Amino acid sequence: MDLYEHQARELFEEHGIPVPRAAVTGSSKEARGIARVLGGRVVVKAQVKTGGRGKAGGVKMAADPAAAELTARQILGMDIKGHTVRKVMLAEPVDIDSEFYVSYVLDRAAGTFLAIASAEGGMEIEEVAATRPEAVARIPVDPAEGVTSAKAAEIADAAALPPQTVDVLVRLWDVLVREDALLVEVNPLVRTKQGHILALDGKVTLDDNARFRQARWGADEVEHDDPLEAAAAAKGLNYVKLDGEVGIIGNGAGLVMSTLDVVAGCGARPANFLDIGGGASAQIMADGLSVILSDPAVKSVFVNVFGGITACDAVADGIVQALDAVQLTKPLVVRLDGNNAARGRTILDERAHPLVQQATTMDGAAARAAQLATAN
Ligand code: ADP
Ligand code: MG
Repeated sequence: MDLYEHQARELFEEHGIPVPRAAVTGSSKEARGIARVLGGRVVVKAQVKTGGRGKAGGVKMAADPAAAELTARQILGMDIKGHTVRKVMLAEPVDIDSEFYVSYVLDRAAGTFLAIASAEGGMEIEEVAATRPEAVARIPVDPAEGVTSAKAAEIADAAALPPQTVDVLVRLWDVLVREDALLVEVNPLVRTKQGHILALDGKVTLDDNARFRQARWGADEVEHDDPLEAAAAAKGLNYVKLDGEVGIIGNGAGLVMSTLDVVAGCGARPANFLDIGGGASAQIMADGLSVILSDPAVKSVFVNVFGGITACDAVADGIVQALDAVQLTKPLVVRLDGNNAARGRTILDERAHPLVQQATTMDGAAARAAQLATAN
């Protein structure tokens, strides 16, 4: 789970990383009062779980409390890369001398953590890495040793960061470990004209497997930006929104991932995918289908089930139940194979819905779903 900037800022502050004074609100009227408390001039920042807010017009300077209210009104409700702004953070403005980039991230391939740092912060690090790779230092961090002062000095040195950043680097590692994060990123970490080091923007991704011991992040914090993701999560389904046109339902992560590839190989793009998991019941199938069909980008749906623990007749029952519950407006291509596949196919044949067609192979079904989605 990703945290919002204001939540990351709060964690930084708790771990002694210097941050500007700030407060968050969903009301432009309140923004005015907050600006007054912060001294008048403030930076108004959209709280959305995506980067590049500055470029998108989601980070703006306001000269006084009245301007803060106006700016907040402008930014609240704004759409930034598909995320609706529901809250803004007002922060004390800082006189920036230089902007740096620092992060710790789990490097799954190497089986270790990685410190990434650069003296060229502020903009997106991917851009710096692409245009000036020599400006980005990448240093492995052994999780058992962590980031000691010596290690932090090594990181700062490799990235040509000023020595005052060493303390922040040590504390940032502390955030990663204590908060069970998979990623902590500060961009920019700045040196002010007065020579102070401050974290101006933060991103923290928590390890969902550790949720049980991080009780502070309750249901309120797990705000899903996509309402369908929220609806699916509420039903215990793993649904992910993508940006194509074929809706995909499968059972098991492996099958779902290959289904995405096969659909892409047929020249269409997945609109989303939903993993109904190992022991998928008729109810789960019905819930899943109704979630997928609520996505307006979906032009066709591909249900790809290989029955193992899941019996295909239960899946077919679920589809029939869903057809009774939701009005099917898009073609559905179903491929059932494995446990009780023959019975499952018969159930669907008997239902004989005009928009439902069956295919016997994964490739054939994907080609059909892709063709239906891209037909017009
Ligand atoms: P994003 O990375 O989403 O664009 P940032 O919080 O990094 O958002 O803000 C973009 C830029 O705005 C920063 O690189 C920095 O130059 C400036 N900025 C952000 N917060 C402040 C602040 N409190 N005072 C002065 N400038 C700021
Ligand atoms: Mg930033």
